[in-house]
Amino acid sequence: MLCGVTRDLDEARYRARSLWLDLLPEPLTARPSLPGDLDCDVAIVGAGFTGLWTAYYLKRHQPDLRVVVLEAEVAGFGPSGRNGGWVSGGIAGIARVYERRTSRDAVQRAVAESYSAVDEIGAVAGREEIDCGYEKAGLVSVATSVPQRQRLEAMVSAARHAGVPEDDLRLLGDAEADKLVRVTGRLAASYSPHAARVDPARLARGLAHACELMGVTIFERTRVREIAPRLLRCEAGSVRAGTVIRATESYSTLLPGEARTYLPLYSLMIATEPLPDEAWDEIGWRDGLLVGDRHHLFFYAQRTGDSRIAIGGRGAPYKLGRPIDERNERNASVAARLQAALRAHFPAAADARITHHWGGPLAVPRDWSMSVTFDRASGFGFAGGYVGHGVAATNISGRTLADLVLGRDTDLVTLPWVGHRSRKWEPEPLRYAASSAIVRTLASADRKEDRSGRRALRTMLVKPFMPDPH
Ligand SMILES: Cc1cc2nc3c(=O)[nH]c(=O)nc-3n(C[C@H](O)[C@H](O)[C@H](O)COP(=O)(O)OP(=O)(O)OC[C@H]3O[C@@H](n4cnc5c(N)ncnc54)[C@H](O)[C@@H]3O)c2cc1C
Repeated sequence: MLCGVTRDLDEARYRARSLWLDLLPEPLTARPSLPGDLDCDVAIVGAGFTGLWTAYYLKRHQPDLRVVVLEAEVAGFGPSGRNGGWVSGGIAGIARVYERRTSRDAVQRAVAESYSAVDEIGAVAGREEIDCGYEKAGLVSVATSVPQRQRLEAMVSAARHAGVPEDDLRLLGDAEADKLVRVTGRLAASYSPHAARVDPARLARGLAHACELMGVTIFERTRVREIAPRLLRCEAGSVRAGTVIRATESYSTLLPGEARTYLPLYSLMIATEPLPDEAWDEIGWRDGLLVGDRHHLFFYAQRTGDSRIAIGGRGAPYKLGRPIDERNERNASVAARLQAALRAHFPAAADARITHHWGGPLAVPRDWSMSVTFDRASGFGFAGGYVGHGVAATNISGRTLADLVLGRDTDLVTLPWVGHRSRKWEPEPLRYAASSAIVRTLASADRKEDRSGRRALRTMLVKPFMPDPH
């Protein structure tokens, strides 16, 4: 009886983590935990997208490999089951950082790989029959103030300079933009075809299931306490493995010695109830199209498979002393800001009931650029630091880690983030001060720009913590 009550409480806690987890049609009960000591070829810590994609591609290349995934909660519990469902092309991280350690050519290959990843995710969803609402209709980025328009135009012109052709990213005329989505207050818009909409929890859970069908063992409610060379220590026992992959992104900061690897920055979302057909006729939002703006704390939105608007944005600093904490995942002022954006830009949805509010931690490395790393001598690898652009990037990481582990000499293993390591963040309370300053300064810059129509120079104040993207 007690066991059943605990299971129900766990399920309620998991479902409360996001709209997507809440609406999963199947029960959200945990798989069995690690029963005791175990030996395997590859042990992966974390059943988010990074861990699951790595397991998936390892098994595709070498079906007899003994692959085990250890997950502290349930597959898709972290941001992988909570995100905005933007499967969007474009690199995660700062081009300049990657270019400095490799070459312009490597960065261009990385951009092309990010476009391919959008299609690869759709192809796997089709092949493995993962019902995750994958729909590729591109991404429209709108500017709703003069400074935003300047940033949008600068972004497109920087891309053109870097060799990105019109077919991959371009400015839209008003009539063209209106055909895709009518955003009230739009001054300018750009379009990229390299983006798809997905229900992220269904993708994560479906991918976990596909991995199991290929012979991967997933242990849930199994927290890894310590990662030592070729050894993982958990409460119930130890796992010995020729290869250990850490796929715990922002949660890595809870592991011994990793506290300053990332700055956890919270991104939060709200979702409306399903909207009636008349509202969609008024908004004219093409199904599968992703929509965002160019505020410093930009919004990202999708039209969900069940006709809601799910819209998110950054903006909640963590609390000092508890950087990773479920109490950081809801924030009244961010929810109010998102609701205001919804009302202002999609008036047909202004009176819709908000049914869900949730969030999760993004992993921000000190140089805001991701890493995929594997050391053959110690058998240890990890990937992460996607700064909120991980849905497509984790697929690249998973394929790359599989190639690195199996010694496959592919183009992936020379992409510019392979072997990259960012320096650590400053110790507390300096990292907390940086997190607060970033969020507060960018929020106040957005308010000033909306009010005055002029560029807010106060963003320069946080430049030491945020590299210039160009
Ligand atoms: C609100 C929100 C919106 C976002 N929107 C987008 C978007 O639209 N598009 C986009 O590209 N990106 C988006 N992101 C970012 C994206 O979700 C992440 O970059 C991506 O999911 C990271 O995947 P991951 O597998 O590396 O990490 P995670 O999803 O964090 O998975 C890590 C897993 O490891 C487990 N774990 C942690 N510690 C341990 C341990 N010690 N032992 C065992 N298991 C452990 C966790 O429980 C978790 O399941 C968003 C993020 C948030 C929070």
